Amino acid sequence: MAERVFRRGPFPVKFRLLQVRRVRRVTPHMVRVTLGGEDLVGFHSDSADDHVKLLIPNPGELKPVLPTMGPHGVVFPEGVKRPATRDYTPRRHDPVAGELDLDFVLHGSGPGSTWASRAKEGDFIGVAGPRGSLMVADDFDWYLFAGDPSGLPSISRRLEELPASARAIVFLEVGDASEEIPLNTRARMELTWFHRNGAAPGTTHLLEQAIRELPLPPGDGFVWAAGEAISMRNIREFLVNERGLNKSWVRVIGYWKRGTADHEEPHD
Ligand SMILES: Cc1cc2nc3c(=O)[nH]c(=O)nc-3n(C[C@H](O)[C@H](O)[C@H](O)COP(=O)(O)OP(=O)(O)OC[C@H]3O[C@@H](n4cnc5c(N)ncnc54)[C@H](O)[C@@H]3O)c2cc1C
Repeated sequence: MAERVFRRGPFPVKFRLLQVRRVRRVTPHMVRVTLGGEDLVGFHSDSADDHVKLLIPNPGELKPVLPTMGPHGVVFPEGVKRPATRDYTPRRHDPVAGELDLDFVLHGSGPGSTWASRAKEGDFIGVAGPRGSLMVADDFDWYLFAGDPSGLPSISRRLEELPASARAIVFLEVGDASEEIPLNTRARMELTWFHRNGAAPGTTHLLEQAIRELPLPPGDGFVWAAGEAISMRNIREFLVNERGLNKSWVRVIGYWKRGTADHEEPHD
């Protein structure tokens, strides 16, 4: 039987200098930045699980300094201040219009959030990747998606791509009702929004509790979740160790970590 979850890539790394075409407030704490430019030609994103590495100009710089790929990896010119790098999800790519949408959570300080909160038409940013794609079959008996606002771009995209035959259970944690967004899907979606009601992001157990209390449907399921790292680790351990789900069908990733800038965990 063909693998139902498999990787494509690695693809050659290209560093693209793109420019902001439009900015739209999606919620009080999320902004959609549409990027374009000649460098977008040849960009592709095969999976909702993909990410790009943003190269964010340092304060006061018009453009980020982009590196090149040398035989031993990434090479920056001598003596320059390197851009900050952060991971974001290609929310929508339209090769015909030459546009790439990224949705940024505005959480406060941090190069990614700060850049997005000030982004305006004509601003420059560097984009590298995706380096690879995790391909997920669309014929699982059920899907469970869970996330905080940082996971919402990927979950929204996945829901848009699922066929009508799919069943998707979706748990989303946001600050309050103003952060809920419409989700478009042909799939049979059972959606629950959870509100932090004043609690700081990454301090609640709302998603974990909902997953612990969920009677898993029969058949083969694929789980995808993203959000604060500790909260995600607890969810992953519960699903794999206590529920005994197939590890290759459980993709639960810490997208950021409370109190830590530029959190990185292996996510390929
Ligand atoms: C594969 C992948 C895809 C991702 N896709 C997206 C995406 O599409 N949209 C998106 O908004 N994020 C996404 N993220 C998460 C994003 O990369 C992190 O939130 C990143 O830390 C943001 O960088 P920053 O410069 O704003 O903050 P940092 O400088 O990294 O952190 C500064 C402070 O802010 C806190 N912080 C960071 N992120 C958040 C948050 N989301 N909520 C609350 N506090 C936070 C940190 O704990 C730290 O204390 C993705 C992460 C990964 C790994």
